[in-house]
Amino acid sequence: MPAKDSHDELGGHSGLEGAVRTLLEEFGVARDSEVYRNTPHRVARMYEEILSGEDGKNEPRITLFKNPGYRDILIVRKMPFYSLCEHHLLPMFGNVSIAYIPGEKILGLSKFPRIVKFFSSRLQVQERLTKDIADYLFDRLSPQGVFVLISARHMCMEMRGARSTGSETVSSAIRGVFDSNPATKEEALNLILEKDV
Ligand code: ZN
Repeated sequence: MPAKDSHDELGGHSGLEGAVRTLLEEFGVARDSEVYRNTPHRVARMYEEILSGEDGKNEPRITLFKNPGYRDILIVRKMPFYSLCEHHLLPMFGNVSIAYIPGEKILGLSKFPRIVKFFSSRLQVQERLTKDIADYLFDRLSPQGVFVLISARHMCMEMRGARSTGSETVSSAIRGVFDSNPATKEEALNLILEKDV
């Protein structure tokens, strides 16, 4: 018996389970097998979990605090993320570093990884993920600047097609003072890359 909570917000668990069952049939999995019986439910639950931010659902509650007078670069480095590429439905994963110079408000530190999780828990491409996080922070925090750097591996490049095993894709989005002041941008980049400054 599926659990009572088995209705998701992606159109109902049963819809997803049926779709997975169809996939299994197409793969040639026998209908009387344990896999055919039990895998659809598990896979539906899995998609429910890893796509929990689809359609902007489950947006984290943002806690802003008055800036105590901090005027320099703050960096949260290498927050891990996991997502699914919207072109192949295969995993992409890596890490996100965020630098910002606050304005009047600062963001509670634990919100940074929650924002990363929110935007990665949906079908994505790395370019949009990078931009989404930068725009969101720039809008919500009204900081002097935001710098987002993402390094990711894409299973659609590694386990199929080009089979470019282990290659990393790096993207960045800069807003505000990091965009207008090259020295500030370079300082942030050095800090993100853990170079001595
Ligand atoms: Zn892909």
